[in-house]
Amino acid sequence: MIIILKADTSEADAKEILAQIEQSGLQPLHMPGVERTVLGALGDERVLQSLHLENHPQVEAIKPVLSKYKLVSREIYPQDTVIQLGKTPVGSQQFTIMGGPCAIESEEQLLETAQQVKAAGATVLRGGAFKPRTSPYSFQGLGVAGLKIMQQVGQETRLDTITELMDIKDLDDVARYTSAIQVGARNMQNYSLLKAVGETQKPILLKRGLSATIEELLLAAEYIVATGNPNVMICERGIRTFETATRNTLDLNAVAYIKEKSHLPVIVDPSHGTGVRTLVGPMAKAGVACGADGLIIECHRNPRESVSDAAQALSPTDFSELVQQLRPFIEASGRTFIPLPDADQLGAS
Ligand code: PEP
Ligand code: MN
Repeated sequence: MIIILKADTSEADAKEILAQIEQSGLQPLHMPGVERTVLGALGDERVLQSLHLENHPQVEAIKPVLSKYKLVSREIYPQDTVIQLGKTPVGSQQFTIMGGPCAIESEEQLLETAQQVKAAGATVLRGGAFKPRTSPYSFQGLGVAGLKIMQQVGQETRLDTITELMDIKDLDDVARYTSAIQVGARNMQNYSLLKAVGETQKPILLKRGLSATIEELLLAAEYIVATGNPNVMICERGIRTFETATRNTLDLNAVAYIKEKSHLPVIVDPSHGTGVRTLVGPMAKAGVACGADGLIIECHRNPRESVSDAAQALSPTDFSELVQQLRPFIEASGRTFIPLPDADQLGAS
Protein backbone atom coordinates (compact mmCIF):
# COMPACT_ATOMS: atom_id res chain seq x y z
CA MET A 1 0.00 0.00 0.00
CA ILE A 2 1.08 3.54 -0.70
CA ILE A 3 0.58 6.40 1.70
CA ILE A 4 0.65 9.80 0.02
CA LEU A 5 1.41 12.61 2.44
CA LYS A 6 0.15 16.17 2.11
CA ALA A 7 2.50 18.63 0.47
CA ASP A 8 3.18 20.54 3.72
CA THR A 9 4.13 17.43 5.75
CA SER A 10 7.23 17.88 7.91
CA GLU A 11 10.09 15.39 8.03
CA ALA A 12 9.17 14.67 11.67
CA ASP A 13 5.58 13.75 10.76
CA ALA A 14 6.79 11.47 7.97
CA LYS A 15 9.20 9.76 10.38
CA GLU A 16 6.47 9.28 12.96
CA ILE A 17 4.25 7.53 10.42
CA LEU A 18 7.18 5.42 9.20
CA ALA A 19 7.89 4.38 12.79
CA GLN A 20 4.25 3.27 13.22
CA ILE A 21 4.50 1.19 10.05
CA GLU A 22 7.75 -0.40 11.21
CA GLN A 23 6.45 -1.13 14.71
CA SER A 24 3.49 -2.98 13.25
CA GLY A 25 5.88 -5.37 11.52
CA LEU A 26 5.44 -4.02 7.98
CA GLN A 27 8.33 -2.94 5.81
CA PRO A 28 8.34 0.85 5.65
CA LEU A 29 9.43 2.68 2.49
CA HIS A 30 10.39 6.32 2.40
CA MET A 31 10.30 8.21 -0.90
CA PRO A 32 10.85 11.90 -0.35
CA GLY A 33 9.94 13.60 -3.64
CA VAL A 34 10.40 17.13 -4.91
CA GLU A 35 6.71 17.94 -4.47
CA ARG A 36 5.52 15.50 -1.85
CA THR A 37 6.59 12.55 0.21
CA VAL A 38 5.20 9.10 -0.48
CA LEU A 39 5.50 6.31 2.07
CA GLY A 40 5.01 2.65 1.45
CA ALA A 41 4.04 -0.24 3.68
CA LEU A 42 4.87 -3.66 2.35
CA GLY A 43 3.33 -6.74 3.94
CA ASP A 44 -0.06 -7.80 5.20
CA GLU A 45 -2.63 -5.16 4.17
CA ARG A 46 -4.87 -5.97 7.13
CA VAL A 47 -2.12 -4.88 9.50
CA LEU A 48 -1.92 -1.53 7.72
CA GLN A 49 -5.69 -1.11 7.90
CA SER A 50 -5.55 -1.64 11.67
CA LEU A 51 -3.29 1.43 11.98
CA HIS A 52 -6.05 3.70 10.56
CA LEU A 53 -3.54 5.97 8.93
CA GLU A 54 -6.35 7.45 6.82
CA ASN A 55 -7.26 9.44 9.96
CA HIS A 56 -3.79 10.96 10.30
CA PRO A 57 -4.03 14.71 9.52
CA GLN A 58 -0.98 14.60 7.21
CA VAL A 59 -2.16 11.64 5.14
CA GLU A 60 -3.73 12.63 1.83
CA ALA A 61 -4.51 9.20 0.44
CA ILE A 62 -3.82 5.49 0.86
CA LYS A 63 -3.80 3.42 -2.32
CA PRO A 64 -3.16 -0.19 -3.25
CA VAL A 65 -0.66 -0.61 -6.08
CA LEU A 66 -1.61 -3.36 -8.47
CA SER A 67 1.54 -3.72 -10.56
CA LYS A 68 4.43 -5.89 -9.34
CA TYR A 69 6.75 -2.90 -9.43
CA LYS A 70 5.32 -0.27 -7.17
CA LEU A 71 7.54 2.67 -6.43
CA VAL A 72 8.61 3.11 -10.05
CA SER A 73 5.03 2.86 -11.28
CA ARG A 74 2.90 5.75 -12.48
CA GLU A 75 0.21 4.34 -10.19
CA ILE A 76 2.15 6.06 -7.41
CA TYR A 77 3.60 9.05 -9.23
CA PRO A 78 1.56 9.90 -12.29
CA GLN A 79 3.84 12.82 -13.14
CA ASP A 80 7.26 12.49 -14.77
CA THR A 81 10.20 12.27 -12.40
CA VAL A 82 13.00 14.76 -13.02
CA ILE A 83 16.40 13.67 -11.85
CA GLN A 84 19.15 16.16 -11.17
CA LEU A 85 22.30 14.70 -12.72
CA GLY A 86 24.85 17.25 -11.52
CA LYS A 87 23.86 20.43 -13.36
CA THR A 88 21.76 18.49 -15.87
CA PRO A 89 18.03 17.90 -15.25
CA VAL A 90 16.89 14.60 -16.80
CA GLY A 91 13.25 13.81 -17.53
CA SER A 92 9.94 15.53 -18.29
CA GLN A 93 10.34 18.57 -20.58
CA GLN A 94 14.11 18.31 -20.77
CA PHE A 95 15.98 16.30 -23.38
CA THR A 96 19.46 15.16 -22.39
CA ILE A 97 22.35 14.01 -24.55
CA MET A 98 25.17 11.98 -23.01
CA GLY A 99 28.21 11.29 -25.15
CA GLY A 100 31.73 10.03 -24.92
CA PRO A 101 33.93 7.05 -25.54
CA CYS A 102 33.12 3.49 -24.61
CA ALA A 103 36.23 3.39 -22.42
CA ILE A 104 38.48 5.99 -20.85
CA GLU A 105 41.84 5.33 -22.53
CA SER A 106 43.95 8.35 -21.54
CA GLU A 107 43.53 11.90 -20.31
CA GLU A 108 44.16 13.31 -23.81
CA GLN A 109 41.66 10.94 -25.42
CA LEU A 110 38.92 11.73 -22.89
CA LEU A 111 39.57 15.49 -22.84
CA GLU A 112 39.56 15.85 -26.62
CA THR A 113 36.41 13.74 -26.98
CA ALA A 114 34.75 15.59 -24.08
CA GLN A 115 35.41 18.98 -25.66
CA GLN A 116 33.96 17.75 -28.91
CA VAL A 117 30.79 16.20 -27.49
CA LYS A 118 30.28 19.34 -25.41
CA ALA A 119 30.65 21.57 -28.45
CA ALA A 120 28.04 19.39 -30.18
CA GLY A 121 25.56 19.89 -27.32
CA ALA A 122 26.06 16.98 -24.90
CA THR A 123 25.84 17.88 -21.23
CA VAL A 124 26.95 14.56 -19.75
CA LEU A 125 30.25 12.84 -20.52
CA ARG A 126 30.23 9.04 -20.59
CA GLY A 127 33.24 6.73 -20.41
CA GLY A 128 33.99 3.42 -18.76
CA ALA A 129 36.79 2.91 -16.25
CA PHE A 130 35.63 -0.60 -15.33
CA LYS A 131 34.71 -2.40 -18.54
CA PRO A 132 32.59 -5.57 -18.69
CA ARG A 133 34.35 -7.30 -21.59
CA THR A 134 33.27 -10.63 -23.05
CA SER A 135 36.87 -11.79 -23.25
CA PRO A 136 39.18 -11.67 -20.22
CA TYR A 137 42.00 -10.78 -22.64
CA SER A 138 40.33 -7.56 -23.83
CA PHE A 139 41.11 -4.15 -22.28
CA GLN A 140 39.43 -4.10 -18.87
CA GLY A 141 39.55 -0.35 -18.27
CA LEU A 142 41.89 1.95 -16.34
CA GLY A 143 40.08 1.43 -13.03
CA VAL A 144 40.48 4.13 -10.38
CA ALA A 145 43.09 5.94 -12.52
CA GLY A 146 40.38 6.27 -15.17
CA LEU A 147 37.91 7.65 -12.64
CA LYS A 148 40.43 10.33 -11.66
CA ILE A 149 40.86 11.27 -15.33
CA MET A 150 37.11 11.51 -15.65
CA GLN A 151 36.83 13.81 -12.66
CA GLN A 152 39.62 16.00 -14.00
CA VAL A 153 38.10 16.20 -17.49
CA GLY A 154 34.62 16.80 -16.09
CA GLN A 155 35.92 19.73 -14.05
CA GLU A 156 37.91 21.13 -16.96
CA THR A 157 34.99 20.98 -19.43
CA ARG A 158 32.27 21.57 -16.82
CA LEU A 159 30.48 18.48 -18.07
CA ASP A 160 28.64 16.13 -15.73
CA THR A 161 29.98 12.60 -15.86
CA ILE A 162 28.73 9.02 -15.85
CA THR A 163 30.65 5.76 -15.58
CA GLU A 164 29.86 2.11 -15.01
CA LEU A 165 30.15 0.45 -11.61
CA MET A 166 30.74 -3.29 -11.86
CA ASP A 167 31.68 -4.22 -8.31
CA ILE A 168 30.45 -2.99 -4.92
CA LYS A 169 34.07 -2.65 -3.78
CA ASP A 170 34.47 0.29 -6.19
CA LEU A 171 31.26 2.09 -5.20
CA ASP A 172 32.90 4.72 -3.00
CA ASP A 173 35.43 5.63 -5.70
CA VAL A 174 32.86 5.78 -8.49
CA ALA A 175 30.53 7.88 -6.32
CA ARG A 176 33.38 10.21 -5.32
CA TYR A 177 34.77 10.88 -8.79
CA THR A 178 31.69 10.98 -11.05
CA SER A 179 28.25 12.65 -11.13
CA ALA A 180 26.24 9.51 -11.95
CA ILE A 181 26.61 5.73 -11.87
CA GLN A 182 25.79 3.31 -14.67
CA VAL A 183 24.69 -0.20 -13.81
CA GLY A 184 25.49 -2.15 -16.96
CA ALA A 185 23.37 -4.66 -18.83
CA ARG A 186 25.33 -7.58 -17.40
CA ASN A 187 24.60 -6.44 -13.87
CA MET A 188 20.94 -5.53 -14.22
CA GLN A 189 19.99 -8.47 -12.02
CA ASN A 190 22.93 -8.23 -9.63
CA TYR A 191 20.67 -7.54 -6.70
CA SER A 192 23.48 -6.86 -4.21
CA LEU A 193 24.82 -4.18 -6.54
CA LEU A 194 21.33 -2.72 -7.02
CA LYS A 195 20.84 -2.51 -3.26
CA ALA A 196 24.31 -0.97 -2.81
CA VAL A 197 23.63 1.83 -5.31
CA GLY A 198 20.19 2.16 -3.71
CA GLU A 199 21.93 3.15 -0.48
CA THR A 200 23.42 6.20 -2.20
CA GLN A 201 21.58 9.21 -3.57
CA LYS A 202 23.61 9.23 -6.80
CA PRO A 203 21.73 9.30 -10.12
CA ILE A 204 21.73 5.75 -11.49
CA LEU A 205 21.47 4.78 -15.16
CA LEU A 206 20.10 1.23 -15.09
CA LYS A 207 20.72 -0.55 -18.38
CA ARG A 208 18.43 -3.33 -19.56
CA GLY A 209 19.89 -6.82 -19.32
CA LEU A 210 20.67 -8.63 -22.55
CA SER A 211 17.75 -11.00 -22.09
CA ALA A 212 15.69 -9.16 -19.51
CA THR A 213 11.98 -8.57 -19.92
CA ILE A 214 10.55 -5.11 -19.37
CA GLU A 215 9.02 -6.32 -16.12
CA GLU A 216 12.39 -7.61 -14.90
CA LEU A 217 13.95 -4.26 -15.82
CA LEU A 218 11.31 -2.32 -13.91
CA LEU A 219 11.65 -4.66 -10.93
CA ALA A 220 15.42 -4.09 -10.98
CA ALA A 221 14.73 -0.34 -10.89
CA GLU A 222 12.30 -1.01 -8.04
CA TYR A 223 15.16 -2.59 -6.03
CA ILE A 224 17.15 0.65 -6.22
CA VAL A 225 14.21 2.90 -5.37
CA ALA A 226 12.94 0.59 -2.60
CA THR A 227 16.37 0.67 -0.99
CA GLY A 228 16.09 4.45 -0.79
CA ASN A 229 17.45 6.01 -3.98
CA PRO A 230 14.70 7.53 -6.15
CA ASN A 231 17.18 8.88 -8.73
CA VAL A 232 16.93 6.15 -11.34
CA MET A 233 17.01 6.48 -15.13
CA ILE A 234 16.07 3.45 -17.22
CA CYS A 235 18.18 2.68 -20.29
CA GLU A 236 17.00 0.68 -23.30
CA ARG A 237 20.20 -0.58 -24.92
CA GLY A 238 19.00 -3.43 -27.06
CA ILE A 239 18.30 -7.06 -26.31
CA ARG A 240 19.41 -10.39 -27.73
CA THR A 241 17.05 -11.80 -30.29
CA PHE A 242 17.40 -14.33 -33.09
CA GLU A 243 18.60 -11.46 -35.30
CA THR A 244 22.34 -11.41 -35.95
CA ALA A 245 22.63 -8.65 -38.56
CA THR A 246 22.98 -6.13 -35.76
CA ARG A 247 24.74 -6.49 -32.40
CA ASN A 248 21.45 -6.25 -30.51
CA THR A 249 17.83 -5.43 -31.29
CA LEU A 250 16.91 -2.00 -29.94
CA ASP A 251 13.50 -2.55 -28.40
CA LEU A 252 11.64 0.69 -28.97
CA ASN A 253 8.39 -0.92 -27.81
CA ALA A 254 10.05 -0.93 -24.40
CA VAL A 255 10.63 2.82 -24.51
CA ALA A 256 6.99 3.63 -25.24
CA TYR A 257 5.79 0.95 -22.80
CA ILE A 258 8.01 2.08 -19.93
CA LYS A 259 7.08 5.73 -20.50
CA GLU A 260 3.44 4.68 -20.13
CA LYS A 261 3.91 2.55 -17.01
CA SER A 262 6.70 4.30 -15.14
CA HIS A 263 7.47 7.88 -14.12
CA LEU A 264 11.22 7.35 -14.41
CA PRO A 265 13.18 8.98 -17.26
CA VAL A 266 14.06 6.66 -20.15
CA ILE A 267 17.37 6.99 -22.00
CA VAL A 268 17.99 5.24 -25.31
CA ASP A 269 21.42 3.83 -26.19
CA PRO A 270 21.48 3.41 -29.98
CA SER A 271 25.22 2.59 -29.91
CA HIS A 272 24.92 -0.72 -28.06
CA GLY A 273 21.41 -1.13 -29.45
CA THR A 274 22.76 -1.54 -32.98
CA GLY A 275 26.54 -1.98 -32.71
CA VAL A 276 26.77 -0.42 -36.17
CA ARG A 277 27.99 3.17 -36.65
CA THR A 278 25.68 3.99 -39.58
CA LEU A 279 22.60 2.78 -37.69
CA VAL A 280 23.23 4.90 -34.59
CA GLY A 281 21.71 8.05 -36.14
CA PRO A 282 18.48 6.53 -37.47
CA MET A 283 17.83 4.68 -34.21
CA ALA A 284 18.68 7.77 -32.13
CA LYS A 285 15.98 9.66 -34.07
CA ALA A 286 13.55 6.77 -33.62
CA GLY A 287 14.31 6.79 -29.88
CA VAL A 288 13.42 10.47 -29.62
CA ALA A 289 10.28 9.95 -31.69
CA CYS A 290 8.95 7.23 -29.40
CA GLY A 291 9.33 9.26 -26.23
CA ALA A 292 12.86 8.89 -24.85
CA ASP A 293 14.03 11.55 -22.39
CA GLY A 294 17.60 11.36 -23.59
CA LEU A 295 20.25 9.51 -25.52
CA ILE A 296 23.59 8.01 -24.56
CA ILE A 297 25.86 7.75 -27.59
CA GLU A 298 29.43 6.52 -27.96
CA CYS A 299 31.84 8.93 -29.60
CA HIS A 300 35.59 8.65 -29.98
CA ARG A 301 38.03 11.30 -31.19
CA ASN A 302 39.29 8.69 -33.65
CA PRO A 303 36.87 5.72 -33.84
CA ARG A 304 39.38 3.48 -35.62
CA GLU A 305 41.69 3.77 -32.60
CA SER A 306 38.96 3.01 -30.06
CA VAL A 307 40.08 0.13 -27.83
CA SER A 308 36.50 -1.04 -27.36
CA ASP A 309 33.28 -0.90 -29.39
CA ALA A 310 35.08 0.76 -32.32
CA ALA A 311 32.44 -0.40 -34.84
CA GLN A 312 29.71 1.64 -33.16
CA ALA A 313 31.70 4.75 -32.17
CA LEU A 314 30.79 8.00 -33.93
CA SER A 315 33.49 10.45 -34.92
CA PRO A 316 33.11 13.91 -33.33
CA THR A 317 31.92 15.25 -36.70
CA ASP A 318 29.29 12.51 -37.02
CA PHE A 319 28.23 13.12 -33.41
CA SER A 320 27.85 16.82 -33.99
CA GLU A 321 25.91 16.36 -37.24
CA LEU A 322 23.64 13.86 -35.54
CA VAL A 323 22.83 16.25 -32.71
CA GLN A 324 21.90 18.90 -35.29
CA GLN A 325 19.67 16.41 -37.10
CA LEU A 326 18.03 15.43 -33.81
CA ARG A 327 16.87 18.97 -33.04
CA PRO A 328 13.61 18.87 -35.06
CA PHE A 329 12.80 15.43 -33.60
CA ILE A 330 13.36 16.72 -30.07
CA GLU A 331 11.21 19.75 -30.77
CA ALA A 332 8.46 17.62 -32.32
CA SER A 333 8.45 15.41 -29.21
CA GLY A 334 7.70 18.49 -27.11
CA ARG A 335 11.03 18.58 -25.30
CA THR A 336 13.52 21.34 -24.75
CA PHE A 337 17.11 20.82 -25.65
CA ILE A 338 19.83 22.93 -24.10
CA PRO A 339 21.08 25.51 -26.59
CA LEU A 340 24.44 25.09 -28.26
CA PRO A 341 27.10 27.07 -26.42
CA ASP A 342 28.36 30.12 -28.31
CA ALA A 343 31.57 29.57 -30.24
CA ASP A 344 33.47 31.99 -28.00
CA GLN A 345 32.33 30.14 -24.86
CA LEU A 346 33.81 26.92 -26.10
CA GLY A 347 37.40 27.98 -25.65
CA ALA A 348 36.60 29.26 -22.15
CA SER A 349 34.92 26.03 -21.10
C1 PEP B 1 28.75 0.56 -22.07
O1 PEP B 1 27.94 1.47 -21.86
O2 PEP B 1 29.88 0.75 -22.56
C2 PEP B 1 28.32 -0.83 -21.83
C3 PEP B 1 29.18 -1.80 -21.59
O3 PEP B 1 26.98 -0.96 -21.90
P1 PEP B 1 26.04 -2.25 -21.69
O4 PEP B 1 26.10 -2.57 -20.23
O5 PEP B 1 24.70 -1.75 -22.14
O6 PEP B 1 26.59 -3.35 -22.57
MN1 MN C 1 30.58 0.30 -25.14
